[in-house]
Amino acid sequence: MSRIIVDRNRCEGHALCVALVPDIFEIDDEDKATVPGVVSDDQLDNVGLAVDTCPVAALRVEPPLPPAS
Ligand code: SF4
Repeated sequence: MSRIIVDRNRCEGHALCVALVPDIFEIDDEDKATVPGVVSDDQLDNVGLAVDTCPVAALRVEPPLPPAS
């Protein structure tokens, strides 16, 4: 299990993460990404895609994901 950290100071509400992984990311009423709960290991590939796609690098995973090969 992993936890996704959203840097709310960086997040600009582009919602690319929601578009890519709608079963994990949501946009809250302040137009910031949010992730209810933790994510399972089998969801980490999709989460990694969202982390890499966020245009303002507002997402990170704890514990960190290994580098993409
Ligand atoms: S893609 Fe990045 S900036 Fe856009 S909502 Fe998701 S975390 Fe925020």
